[in-house]
Parts: sequence; C-alpha cells; structure tokens
Amino acid sequence: MSFDFLMQNKFFIIMNISQYIETGNYQKALQLVDELIDSNQKNDKILFTKATILYHLKKYKEAENIFMELYDKNKNSGILFYSMALVALELNQKEKAFYLLELAYLNGNDQSIYKIINLLFEKNGICDYANCKESCCKSVVLKGSDGDMIKDEQSFKRLISNPKQNNAWVKIGENKKNEWIFSCNNLGEGNFCKIHNSRSDACRDFPVGILSLKPVCSYYFRLSNELVKFRTKQTLAVVLDILEAYNYKKEKQIIMDFNENIK
Ligand code: SF4
Ligand code: SF4
Repeated sequence: MSFDFLMQNKFFIIMNISQYIETGNYQKALQLVDELIDSNQKNDKILFTKATILYHLKKYKEAENIFMELYDKNKNSGILFYSMALVALELNQKEKAFYLLELAYLNGNDQSIYKIINLLFEKNGICDYANCKESCCKSVVLKGSDGDMIKDEQSFKRLISNPKQNNAWVKIGENKKNEWIFSCNNLGEGNFCKIHNSRSDACRDFPVGILSLKPVCSYYFRLSNELVKFRTKQTLAVVLDILEAYNYKKEKQIIMDFNENIK
C-alpha cells in the first residue's frame, strides 16, 4: 500500500471519527479510533480522543488508564488535567478531582474554576415554575454533553443530536462568558414545560452552579458539608474573588477559614 493511500485513508477515518463524536455516536467513533491504533497510527492526540470517547461511553476506568499514560508524558496540559478531573468525579474521587481542576486552571484551563466552585456548593430547593417571574426557559444557558456550557455550534449540535435531548431551543444571544443563551419553544402556558417528563439533562440540571442561578429562582445553593481543601493559593484566591463578586461573603469567609493553613 502506498504512503499517499495510507495518509488519505487516515484523513477520512479522522473526519469520520469527528463526525461520529459530533453526532454522539461514540461506539462507532471508538471502533474507528481502535482501527487507527491497530494500524500503528497511535499518537497522543488519538489516545486522548479514545479516552474522551470512553468517558462518554461511561467506561471511566479505561479512560483513566489512557489519561494516566498521557500524563506520564505531558505534565502541563490544562485540558488533560480537566479531562482527568471529569473522570475522577465520575469515579467519586472528589478530592482528586478537585486537585486536578486546580492543576487544570493553573495550566490555562479557565473553565476549571467554575467546576471548582460547583464542587464547593450543593443545590437545594425545587423549581417553582408557576410563580416564576423570569422562567429560566425563556433565556437559558445549556450544559453540553461534555459537561461544559454550550459556546459554539459544534457542541450545540452534539447536544441536540442526542435523541434524549430537546431540540426546541433557539439561540437568542450570548452572555459575558460567551455562553449561548436560548429561548425554548417547549415552554407552555404558566411556564409549564410541554415535555417535562422527557426534558433533557441540561434542563434537569439547571441551575448548574451559583454562577448560572437567576436572582428570581427558587433554587438556592449552600456550601457543601464536605468541603475539600485547596492545594494552591492561586486558585483559592481566584475562587474567593468570584464569591465576593457574587455576594457569597459568608461562604467566602468559611472557605478562607477552612483553608487558613494553605502554604
Ligand atoms: S425543554 Fe422544557 S425545561 Fe427545557 S428549556 Fe424547554 S421548556 Fe424549559
Ligand atoms: S428560574 Fe428557577 S424557579 Fe424559575 S423556572 Fe427556572 S428553575 Fe424554575
């Protein structure tokens, strides 16, 4: 087989893998990634893709093993630390996930700081939709299938191509964090969701953290009973600033006291 043929073939396989990932067909994507690996086309990018696919297929231990293999070669990749943290969370390793998120942030992965804040708080309450003056469904930010907020066409397509997801969202703008804001055509009379029982995970999970909470919302957040200690002063300082900006002063003080011995 000629070199050109192999390269062309590899290009088409990679295109197909991207397409399968985009449409949520992770099983098929995994099959193609394995074909590439079996034909000696293994490299770090392909391994990272395989681990990410395994994560989506909920094969967390397998994903973890590959991420560890990559970590041995690359100890300053923000996206790698972030991905490892997502796996650790699924494996109920909260402290490990917390530390990995700190490392991810320190290595340039900004979104990690929001995940850290989410780990510090617990959501309480229920949706009082009938009395809600500013229903979230009128302007909603959505969490994508990778757990991050939707900020681009690709992740939005991935979200709505999952058969379980609602596809009645219409983009109406973007917020300061570049997250897309949607209205929803499934919102019925009295703020009642017309597809309540089959609404998507993104809807069930709302609000995803203190930063997405609307002032009118009947949900509220309180500090987790199982706080995790920070390992780095820098990430602690950033989180404290955010809590100050969002007026969580009491919680800020508790976190400061809890981490007073940080070096
Ligand atoms: S599907 Fe239902 S819960 Fe989700 S945004 Fe639309 S109206 Fe709201
Ligand atoms: S903002 Fe809160 S209370 Fe209002 S509809 Fe959304 S989840 Fe329910």
